[in-house]
Formats: sequence, C-alpha cells, structure tokens
Amino acid sequence: MDIKSMTLSELEEYMESIHERKFRAKQIYEWMHKRLAFSLDEMNNIPKKLKERIQLDYDMYGVKMLDCFVSKIDGTRKYLFELHDGNVIESVWMQYKHGNSVCISSQAGCRMGCRFCASTLGGLDRNLEPSEMLSQIYYIQKDTKERVSNVVMMGTGEPMDNFDNVLRFLELITSEQGLNISQRNLTISTCGIVPKIEELAKKHLQITLAISLHAPNDEKRKELMPIANRYSMEELLSACKYYFKETNRRMTFEYSLVAGVNDQPKNARELCQKLHGFPCHVNLIPVNPIKERNFRQSLPESIMEFKKILEKNHIHVTIRREMGADINAACGQLRRKKLQSGK
Ligand code: SAH
Repeated sequence: MDIKSMTLSELEEYMESIHERKFRAKQIYEWMHKRLAFSLDEMNNIPKKLKERIQLDYDMYGVKMLDCFVSKIDGTRKYLFELHDGNVIESVWMQYKHGNSVCISSQAGCRMGCRFCASTLGGLDRNLEPSEMLSQIYYIQKDTKERVSNVVMMGTGEPMDNFDNVLRFLELITSEQGLNISQRNLTISTCGIVPKIEELAKKHLQITLAISLHAPNDEKRKELMPIANRYSMEELLSACKYYFKETNRRMTFEYSLVAGVNDQPKNARELCQKLHGFPCHVNLIPVNPIKERNFRQSLPESIMEFKKILEKNHIHVTIRREMGADINAACGQLRRKKLQSGK
C-alpha cells in the first residue's frame, strides 16, 4: 500500500482507524501534495511515533532522478527517473507563453504496439501507481522551482490501459489541498480504447481528450496501430461524439505524418470527410523517426499542403512545434537507450 496514492478522505479514515486526530490527515496530505515532501522525515510537525506507525502500514512511492537533459534551443528538460523497483520512466518539462507544461508517463513500457513509437518496443513492464504519476510532476516542480500549470499524459504508456490509476491521479492532482491544477489544464492522450473513452465520458470531467488517429481510414490505421484491428474508426469516432455530447469538450486528434504512408493530399481529403462537422482540433506531428523502423518524416512542403487542405475544409489545425530537438525528447527514446545500455 502506498500512502501518496490515497485521497484525503481515505487518509482521514486511516487516522481514525489508528485512533489519531483527523487533522493529521490534512497535514500529511499537504506535506505530500502541496509542499511536495518525498519522505516522512521531512514532515517536521508530525510526531515521530505517528511516522513510525505509518511506516509499518504504508510505503511512500516517489521517483529518483537518474539523468536530466536540458535543451540549449528552448530550455526543454527531459528527465529520466527510476522507480522503487528499478523500473525506468521519462518525463518532459516544456516552457510555453501560457505556462509550464509537464509530459508524464502512465506506464513503464506499453503494450499497444504502435509501429512508429519507441515506448512500445520492449512491451509493457507495469502500470504506474497514481503516486508515481504525481511524483514526476512534483519532482520537476521542485527541481525547476517553477509552478507546473499544465499536464499532458503523452509520455510512455497508454493511460486508458491503466484507467483506475489514471482517474485517481486526476482526482489527486486537481485537489485543493494539493497542486490544485485545473481540469482544463490536463490532457489525456489515447490510442483509442473505445469502451474506456465512453467510461471516461460518463465521469463528466473537463479535461482535454486527445485521440491518436494518425490515419484517415481503417486500412491505413491498421498499418500503423494494432489497436485499429480491435476498434474501427467508425466506432472510435462515435465514442468521440459521445464524449463531446457528455462533456461539451472539443477534442484533439493527433496525426503523426509519415512520408509516403499517410501524408498525401488524398489522405488529407479523406480525413476532412471523416471529421466533417465534428468540433475538434487536429494536431499534425511530423513523425520522429526511430532507428528500429524505417519511417521517414514528411517533407515540410507536404506538411504545409496537408494543413492547407484541412484549413480549406474549416478544420482547426496546428503543426506541433518541435521542442527539445537536441535532447532526444521524443516518446520513449531515452528510456529505451537506458534499458539497452543496461543489458
Ligand atoms: N498511448 C497514448 C499516449 C502516448 S504518446 C496515445 O497513443 O495517445 C503521445 C503521442 O505521440 C501519440 O499520439 C503517439 O501516437 C505519438 N507518437 C509516438 N511515437 C511517435 C513518434 N515517433 N513520432 C511522432 N509521434 C509519435
């Protein structure tokens, strides 16, 4: 059991169960989630006896920094963290005009198998606990001494494949006694696990949902993403419509452009047909080539033309700005390098 993954009311129940005063729960919760303490030792207003009791009942998971790379181009910082059991994960800190954003991992490894993605090459090791998702943000906020205002779940892992822990993470990161990040500043990215999108819709959260689409039809999507064999694009888009109906949140579709595979004008036109009338935003990502596959990045002209076709069809579209280009900041590359060097 891990104390940093508990909600305030669970902590209060625990205090009651060991005949402690209720206010201790709030003190400890704030130490962990507001003052960002990484151990009980730091909590200097908590009696030693209580700390000893807690240590008998609970662990407190955190992250240990193994490495940090800082981009000379834009200040982006990429962290490599070790978990309590030796697993390694990565997180990225990015500065934007509107604030600081952290991109976190939700799993150690991934089992979704997307062809262009480095995070999935070694399969899934395990799910991350809510506290391990939080600790990535906490560590980085302490390290940079700057407030984190936005969190995107676009690091290693498929959040919808670790659904309960992700929901609990959302509850903790938005709590008033914690970092109190607003739901609107949180983004979850998914490769499209349809039943989980529907389940999330029913929670009526105000977070942003990003869907990794990457293709305008099932055939192309299957070439890139095994999940497309499980759920058709029609099912996926209808789950997205349901999500919008329930939450009124416009979603983002991510589309990584791979030269000659999905970046042709006819692909753009087909995408427009599929998204016609759908309140959404399309984010074009020039694919980051990984050495294990021979996918190439689309030429700037193809990217611009793809964008123009979408715009002509009145679809909101942006091209993702490349951050931290000099520090290997893309999707699982760092973790993979570390794992391989360890073997
Ligand atoms: N599992 C989630 C979150 C993972 S990564 C998901 O699939 O959405 C966040 C985004 O980066 C996804 O859209 C993913 O498809 C994309 N991505 C992964 N590897 C990439 C690469 N090498 N180049 C460009 N985009 C990539």
